[in-house]
Amino acid sequence: MQDTKTKYSYYVEPRTLEVTDRPRKFLQAFAAVLEHSSYGLALDMYTRLSTKCSRCGASCQLYEVTGEARDIPCQRSELLLRIYRRYFTVAGLLRARLGGGFTLTDAYLDEMAEAFYRCTVCRRCKSSCPIGVDHGLITKRPEDGGEV
Ligand code: SF4
Ligand code: SF4
Repeated sequence: MQDTKTKYSYYVEPRTLEVTDRPRKFLQAFAAVLEHSSYGLALDMYTRLSTKCSRCGASCQLYEVTGEARDIPCQRSELLLRIYRRYFTVAGLLRARLGGGFTLTDAYLDEMAEAFYRCTVCRRCKSSCPIGVDHGLITKRPEDGGEV
């Protein structure tokens, strides 16, 4: 289904009936955020970057304490970037139409909500990233108080 009310259309193919109401509402809210903020510009750039060097993990005090993979900054950000790529880019749409991609689920939303909740948005990780990926900004978009 294409949401024609916003510039950022999202797509859920009719046959993906396992998509429940909650993921659909999340995608609607996400589309509205992208439509009315500059968040999409940052996400668009970050979906094209990452050397997977893991330096951000070494600088994150949360990951230092827990040692849990879900607290590695780039892994957490990837949870959201994956949704963005899949539902809000042409490449993601085409891949899905060809039978690839993934389907947003309740469980995925729960995993992402918990991971983002744990980030303190201190932004220490940004200074250690060689290409300037700002995981704090991804966790908290500028309009919610994050600074670009
Ligand atoms: S420090 Fe930057 S480039 Fe390296 S893994 Fe983290 S986000 Fe990717
Ligand atoms: S902004 Fe989040 S991910 Fe980055 S160092 Fe702080 S707690 Fe860790």
